[in-house]
Amino acid sequence: MAPPIAVIGMNDILPGEIARWQSLEGSFRETCARYGYREVRTPICEYVELFSRGIGGTTDIVQKEMYTFDDRGERTLALRPEGTASSVRAALEHAALSKEPVVRWCYLGPMFRAEKPAKGRFRQFHQVGAEVYGDGSAAADAECIELAVRFILSLGIKDFTVRLNSLGGEESRARFREALVAYFTPVREQLSPESQHRLERNPLRILDSKDPRDIPFKAAAPSILDALTDDDRAHFAQVRALLDALEVPYAVDPTLVRGLDYYTRTVFEVVDTSGSLGAQDALGGGGRYDKLFSELGADAPVPAFGFALGIERLLLAAPEPVQPRGFCVAVVAAAKSSDLPVTGAAMALARDLRARGVTAHVDTRFHSMKSQFRRADDQGAAFVLILGGSEVEAGEVTVKDMATGAQSRLARAQAIDTVVAARPA
Ligand code: AMP
Repeated sequence: MAPPIAVIGMNDILPGEIARWQSLEGSFRETCARYGYREVRTPICEYVELFSRGIGGTTDIVQKEMYTFDDRGERTLALRPEGTASSVRAALEHAALSKEPVVRWCYLGPMFRAEKPAKGRFRQFHQVGAEVYGDGSAAADAECIELAVRFILSLGIKDFTVRLNSLGGEESRARFREALVAYFTPVREQLSPESQHRLERNPLRILDSKDPRDIPFKAAAPSILDALTDDDRAHFAQVRALLDALEVPYAVDPTLVRGLDYYTRTVFEVVDTSGSLGAQDALGGGGRYDKLFSELGADAPVPAFGFALGIERLLLAAPEPVQPRGFCVAVVAAAKSSDLPVTGAAMALARDLRARGVTAHVDTRFHSMKSQFRRADDQGAAFVLILGGSEVEAGEVTVKDMATGAQSRLARAQAIDTVVAARPA
């Protein structure tokens, strides 16, 4: 029988790669903490209606990409395709806004979409995200965009552009929809079948199309920015002014609509410009979604803004750091594995070194000294601490400095102190 393999599009993250993941996660948590965004962890699956209501029934995610399954015949669940709907659900369920007027939350974890796997596109992928609830001001938009940008910069990524647009509120959207229908209807037959369908259901999404049949018509399409109401226009001008004040560079792009239905007013996307991501060059994005709380059953509207960035793509875009090997030591026993007083003493010595903050390896197979030394060498041990019967009896340890080859026999406590003192700060 062939050995098992992972599900297509779902990846293992092996120990050799984990340092970069942990470092990115650490930077994200640190950046968020500085801006007052607190971490929330929601389940990886939800009742499917949360996403069909929250993300929107006409989106690709809901129509084609959700992993749904029966909860033992009770209700249909879906693996979360994104983090916002779950986070809003949690904020509502726990009445987060009754405890503070503005809620700032962040999250990180796996998301699931049944997309065709490609470079930078997987079926289980990971996102970091941040959300602010209860503040409809342009300042909240600017702060959240700035947070995303500072975090990306903290990873050493320099080649990226922030695309910015406003989709306006309901009135602006209705005006724009009319203008789009008027523009695209005469050329309907020349559009891709998908965009012909979109023309009826959600004409805005035609602007999202990458189909070569649609591209020529997109260029001369009406601009949403011409359809904005005075209020929406003023909000967008403020967002831009604040980003200027915060020295966040951006490019206004009136064709940016983003894939999800729930956005209102400001939307943005961060695109990698180094070329290292190929076709999947969007690092992430987000925007304002002032209707989502009401759509999910909130008594009163709650203004909200948020973004999500894809961790795999950030890691592809970020420079590879030179990983210095961490300081470690090895404890070897000059004894057979059956020689319990000696092997037990070796394990206890390793325990005491670890309690002092030192990484200590023990080759618990306790083969020959030669083989234990070879393993210590492979692990990059700075010191090898040797315990034989006579050392154990005398309460001593032989310490070998692997860089110089110098070897000395010390009292056990002194041996520990020597290793601890040699550890780089
Ligand atoms: P979205 O929620 O679609 O706006 O996605 C935000 C970001 O998540 C994207 O820009 C990507 O960086 C990442 N992302 C979305 N879908 C995938 C996927 N299937 N595989 C890898 N990353 C993804």
